[in-house]
Amino acid sequence: MKKQVVTAVLLLAATLTNQAAQPTEAVLVIRNVNLLAQSGGAAVQPGMSVLLRGGRIAAIGPAAEVIAPTGAVQIDGTGKFLMPGLIDLHVHLSKTRASAMNLLIAHGVTTVRDMGGDHQELLAWRRSIEGGERVGPTIVLAGPYLESVRNIERMRKDPPSLRVEPFERTRIGVGSPADARRTVAELAARDIDFIKIRTVADPDTYLALNAAANEHGIALVGHVTGIPPQRILDGGQDGIDHFIYPSLDNESERMALWKGFAARNVPIVPTIDVFLRTALLPAEQLKKIAEDDGGVVEPRRRYLSRYLALDWREQALEASDERRVAQQRIWTEVVRRDLREMHRAGMDVLVGSDTAVLNIYPGSAVHDEMELFVTELGMTPAEVLDRTTRRSAEFLRLGDSIGSIARGKVADLILLDADPTLDIRNTRRIAAVFVRGRMFDRAALDRIQADVLAAPDVRSDDWGRTARKQ
Ligand SMILES: [Zn+2]
Repeated sequence: MKKQVVTAVLLLAATLTNQAAQPTEAVLVIRNVNLLAQSGGAAVQPGMSVLLRGGRIAAIGPAAEVIAPTGAVQIDGTGKFLMPGLIDLHVHLSKTRASAMNLLIAHGVTTVRDMGGDHQELLAWRRSIEGGERVGPTIVLAGPYLESVRNIERMRKDPPSLRVEPFERTRIGVGSPADARRTVAELAARDIDFIKIRTVADPDTYLALNAAANEHGIALVGHVTGIPPQRILDGGQDGIDHFIYPSLDNESERMALWKGFAARNVPIVPTIDVFLRTALLPAEQLKKIAEDDGGVVEPRRRYLSRYLALDWREQALEASDERRVAQQRIWTEVVRRDLREMHRAGMDVLVGSDTAVLNIYPGSAVHDEMELFVTELGMTPAEVLDRTTRRSAEFLRLGDSIGSIARGKVADLILLDADPTLDIRNTRRIAAVFVRGRMFDRAALDRIQADVLAAPDVRSDDWGRTARKQ
């Protein structure tokens, strides 16, 4: 008896919070739209209607057959294109700060993979998004990321003026195989979705990290610079970020390796924009962008948080024309060649922006990266869209809930003014974004973007080392 009462009270409480927090209870119908149900797959289906209810896709069908209940919000999709929300597989939200999540939604990014940051804070942000108190994407996260102990020591030795990031909150040093096993066990017990590796002490520690991650059943992804390519495949790493360098000299050996990764469903997220929009730019230009608080050189610069603006100044100090020349060679002679081969070999090349890197802007960066997939890797727009939606969702093991438009899936959608399969740049022409069924029309998207300019984290540093002094 007593138990029943408690259950009833709990149910009531749950209902009340749901109503308060979720504007997703509304029923919406997008009428007579051109549907890209699976962005890369079949042709565009004209004259379709999609019914959204309770944050999910409730019905899809020819416009004449989808009957909307009375009181449903009607959205005229005539001449427009409906596709799944975009997934950015490489962001650092701790560095962009919370206000940047408005920019992600304003650019149709409804899911992100956070590749390392301030774990407790990221969890709090994720909870407030899920609770409906904050606008933002679905966050899949690594928590803190792994570095070689030597790298952490080097950061500690930097003069305080060069230590903008509170790196003790974001990075864990791993110095030996025993250390690797201990760290992976500790991380696996936390609320994280995968482990990210950035730098590693030695090959044995690298293999120990992989073995421990496999044992705990948690995915290990990240940088592989300096690791022999065959060892990456044998070690069992679940995803590669940026590039493989040094690579192999022999083409047939490389193709065999890429096919090996393809067979194991190991994708690469190359973040091409870090080469083409950052590393290959003259140091002088990067410094100008870093110092351009008013957004004169680049209007998107105005939406940066204060922390990220300080971080970019630090990043600009590392830029040099000598470094640029070296990066230019790596890109043209090795990385671009390898990426094209990987694609040919059937290895998944996926879209991530590395947002938080100097000159990579939250939200719009994913559109820049998609465009580079067409111009630099020779993919068709449809192939790129498939990679930024369905294939990324599957990689994140979220294929059952997001990544395509199907009955029962989460209503994360973008309504476009023009066909993105004809020109990838049309993904920038956003008429509306639906986030778990909640609609942001053009006016609402402009409003949440404008809100960023007045956000507290844009006015002052709320995270980095200078934050404590204020
Ligand atoms: Zn990164």
